[in-house]
Amino acid sequence: MANIAIVGAGFIGLGAAAWLQRDGHRVTLFDPAGVGHGASFGNAATFAPYGCVPVNGPSVFRDMPHFLFGADSPLRIRWPYLLRGAPWLARFLVASTPAHHARSASALAALLTRAADGYAPLLAPSRLAAFVRPRECLYLYARQASFDAAQPSLALRRRLGVPFDTLDADAIRRLEPALAPIFTRGVLFHGSWHFSDPCGFLDELFAHLATGGATLERAQVERIEPVGDGVSLHAGGTVRRFDHVVIAAGARSRAFAAACGDAVPLDTERGYHVQFAAHEQIVTRPVGWAERGFYMTPLDEGLRAAGTVELGGFDAGMNRSLVALLTRSAREALPSLGAPTRSWLGFRPTLPDGVPVIGRARRSERVIHAFGHQHLGVTLAGITGRIVADLVAQRAPPLDLTPYRAARF
Ligand SMILES: Cc1cc2nc3c(=O)[nH]c(=O)nc-3n(C[C@H](O)[C@H](O)[C@H](O)COP(=O)(O)OP(=O)(O)OC[C@H]3O[C@@H](n4cnc5c(N)ncnc54)[C@H](O)[C@@H]3O)c2cc1C
Repeated sequence: MANIAIVGAGFIGLGAAAWLQRDGHRVTLFDPAGVGHGASFGNAATFAPYGCVPVNGPSVFRDMPHFLFGADSPLRIRWPYLLRGAPWLARFLVASTPAHHARSASALAALLTRAADGYAPLLAPSRLAAFVRPRECLYLYARQASFDAAQPSLALRRRLGVPFDTLDADAIRRLEPALAPIFTRGVLFHGSWHFSDPCGFLDELFAHLATGGATLERAQVERIEPVGDGVSLHAGGTVRRFDHVVIAAGARSRAFAAACGDAVPLDTERGYHVQFAAHEQIVTRPVGWAERGFYMTPLDEGLRAAGTVELGGFDAGMNRSLVALLTRSAREALPSLGAPTRSWLGFRPTLPDGVPVIGRARRSERVIHAFGHQHLGVTLAGITGRIVADLVAQRAPPLDLTPYRAARF
């Protein structure tokens, strides 16, 4: 049995904790915010094994003027970030070229096809399975032209084994009659589902792990340092030694990776949600609106409209125009919605190629990287946890990890 620290108690940290504990290890999670904060707090809660096509595809070049100047654009770039973020943006654009984009999609698909198996042990206890709502995600297009433009990405998904059906306006209305009749085409993704309460799920998962001995320390990890046959972890003014450390600090993982020899261009895609009141559930499944870049997910606490992408770093405050866009768009789709009760900004952890970093650190095989899950951290928590546990146990992971190595940058 090894003594293992996990930096970060979001979906990825908890997924790793679950799989490591299964192998009999003693797990300590470190997170000053507690369980289920960071990006894991406010996401759209979908298990989306169809999400293999990164945001930055070949169409980014065509759509760039709309992103920069369009009032309804769900992808924004903050002007001050254009200079500061130029190196990351340049890599993001390089990764949008057709060959690179197809490589990233294959790498994501290899993880996503194993995502359900990765979740199976996490969902085995019935009180955890109770958070799963098995209603397939519906992705909608208001304009036929947008649906036509999405054909290359749908064909890529099809080639990578994603099962889906396409729907016309009548089929959409039969599935979700509360929607305004503004959607002309849709896609129903098979094998997808959502959590009724993503943070509730993480709290319950942690409570379950705690009965097996896992602990949480509400402390900020300041530094980690590989030493001999272990790793020193500096947190809350003390230094502790662990046999292994897992870096799962989401968008804040970059400095830890650098300290272990891996200079990764990790940045953030800022995302927003607006939450409507508990009685407002209106749709029965996550409904995405392609042109507006967001999902409406019926949660226990009410309908959540979550999404958009803003490239702008960590420091800037909320972009009220994106909150307004989410609110207005949700009400256009569901005219009976009231006023939102909360708005939220979160930081997706994103590498420029959209592929997470999962693997051993360059300076020490006792440090395991598990970060950069961009729009897919909820979906990939289980399979990432499984890979982390395999690496610690020196077992062969279920797939080739070459595409996810930090050294690709
Ligand atoms: C609007 C929006 C919608 C989304 N919808 C979906 C969806 O429907 N499906 C899906 O699969 N994914 C979705 N995502 C993506 C998903 O939420 C993220 O990929 C996921 O939450 C990342 O999990 P994580 O554990 O890596 O990071 P986080 O959840 O950010 O957790 C990292 C944790 O590390 C902690 N931390 C940071 N620094 C330190 C330190 N120095 N010491 C200790 N702890 C530290 C933080 O406090 C934080 O709690 C969405 C994201 C957004 C923003």
